[in-house]
Amino acid sequence: MALRPYIVGNWKMNGTRATLAEARAIDRAAARHPAVEVALAPPFTLVMAMAEAVQEIAVGGQDCHAKPSGAFTGDVAAAQLADAGARFAIVGHSERRTLHGEGDGLVRAKAEAALAEGLGVIVCVGETEAERDAGQAEAVVASQLAGSLPGAEAGVERVSVAYEPVWAIGTGRVPSLDDVGAMHRAIRAHLAAAYGAAGAGVRILYGGSVNAANALELLGADEVSGALVGGASLTAESFSAIIAAAAQRVEG
Ligand code: PEP
Repeated sequence: MALRPYIVGNWKMNGTRATLAEARAIDRAAARHPAVEVALAPPFTLVMAMAEAVQEIAVGGQDCHAKPSGAFTGDVAAAQLADAGARFAIVGHSERRTLHGEGDGLVRAKAEAALAEGLGVIVCVGETEAERDAGQAEAVVASQLAGSLPGAEAGVERVSVAYEPVWAIGTGRVPSLDDVGAMHRAIRAHLAAAYGAAGAGVRILYGGSVNAANALELLGADEVSGALVGGASLTAESFSAIIAAAAQRVEG
């Protein structure tokens, strides 16, 4: 793996203060594998408490608003995330795109808002099963990247991309390693076209049913520089195994 692996847990709408014990245990696991960059994105309610509870890992938001402040009930601005101790934000997750109707232009605005506040950003893309079956997976992802990636001047070194086929999220199904590699190579080519030489430094995470049993294999696919993990990031036991798999990929 050419780039430092980045293993990010997305807790979605799970977790209360009682769950911080898992985050502390994940933090200890991360300390055992300094070759791997580890991060967790808990619900907004836990960002500050988690950021205070951990030392090795970064804590981030699962979303942020595109505007710095205002009458946006229920939303959270990038500056508020940063103020709570967040170091990055996930934007464009398929659950936001589908359940909240977020399109590429909004995702890009959110990404640029996060970067403007000094946060890192993980821009999620991925095709549905129908799109893959129709042979459109790469075209769909290319179009999402064209519309969602922040501009080159916004802070490319803090941008990561997560390729998450929608049909693999939370289903226990994963694409073949060939398909993962092909899509990640296509994303790498897109990043080079968008960002020039800096595109080579953007980490491309695979996401979708990554677990302790398949992580080592998935992390070995072409151009995979980490993982965005949902369900298997909720316990230290399963997430630590994924962190260890990433370390094995770097250390051999
Ligand atoms: C996700 O929602 O980002 C995700 C990858 O979920 P899971 O690992 O549970 O498939």
